[in-house]
Amino acid sequence: MDLKDKMNKKTITGITAALIMLLSGCSGNVPDTVQTSQTSAETTGITENTAEQATGTTADERPVDKSDAIDIKFRFADEQEGEQRLLAQKGYLEGLTRNDLDYRVGRKGADLDEFRQLLKENVLSFTDEEKELLTMYVEKMEDRMNEMGFPYKVPEEIVFVKTTMAEEGDAAAYTHGTEIYLGQDPMNYCTEVGTYDQDFAELVAHEFFHCMTRGNEDFRRDMYSVIGTTIDSSIEIDPAMRANILSNPDVERYDNYAVFDIDGTPTECMIVTYVEDYEEGYESFFDHIRPALLPVRTQDRFYFADDVPDFFNVVGRNTGYVIAAEECMADNFAYAMVYGSRDRDGNEYPSQDIIDSILEKCSGK
Ligand SMILES: [Zn+2]
Repeated sequence: MDLKDKMNKKTITGITAALIMLLSGCSGNVPDTVQTSQTSAETTGITENTAEQATGTTADERPVDKSDAIDIKFRFADEQEGEQRLLAQKGYLEGLTRNDLDYRVGRKGADLDEFRQLLKENVLSFTDEEKELLTMYVEKMEDRMNEMGFPYKVPEEIVFVKTTMAEEGDAAAYTHGTEIYLGQDPMNYCTEVGTYDQDFAELVAHEFFHCMTRGNEDFRRDMYSVIGTTIDSSIEIDPAMRANILSNPDVERYDNYAVFDIDGTPTECMIVTYVEDYEEGYESFFDHIRPALLPVRTQDRFYFADDVPDFFNVVGRNTGYVIAAEECMADNFAYAMVYGSRDRDGNEYPSQDIIDSILEKCSGK
């Protein structure tokens, strides 16, 4: 899940539909299944070798063997498939708390059927322009990963689904499994800008991170370790505390902790998303959440950043979106992928060590 106002804060520049058509190559329909480069890389391997013999290319000048290159396969769900995929998220749906349902439906005492109805009503289909543009963003990220020698295995397939985001508090995007749900607002923004935009690239990389952590436990462990977070599957959340932890489709597991200074004692705590009890008239849950720490052994109360002197020493200062280790690292990963070792303005990051560590782990050895 990514903050709802991340994409809205930008002013839309006046790029016309004509320019969008120009950039998208004026093609008509975009195939739902994007042709991947795996086959062509394998095929061109033979051609390259032949060309090499003909031109007498030396070993050092040989084209890079692309057979093990990162190849992100992806496609776009239509409205019907999107609905089916959302309704199939049984673990997520059945795990929703009273507060989760009330905030999402906007009514005290909401039930799961109302939320299911909301899911059905808010799925959309991508336009051809949106598909073209998203394809460009994924390919850019893929190029970047190949330049880095990204050593982790990527998901077999990413499925993009478009919704209004009304079902998730007007977030910009969120994920389930290896499905990336994108909101209409960022898609409008993306098509109106019509060319590569770093904010949108950040959004795509952030969501891609969530898909990666689900499918690749080594990647998840390595990334969490950057902020001193350990994965421990024996942790179980106390149901009484769970009522005030917002469910987030991007945070599937409550199984990790880092050590924070709690009342002067180093204490293993999970970073969770504290949510106030829903009251009539409340709008998006984004207005009623804050990052909190829950000591994993006692689980007796929540501690907020102000209570914990070393909170930002642990999670770093690159992002304020630290409502879970997963979200903190998704933002940091997105910065490292989109901007590299200096931030978007060419400056050091406030917590440079986090970015350096991500880049080191994500670069070929
Ligand atoms: Zn997220």
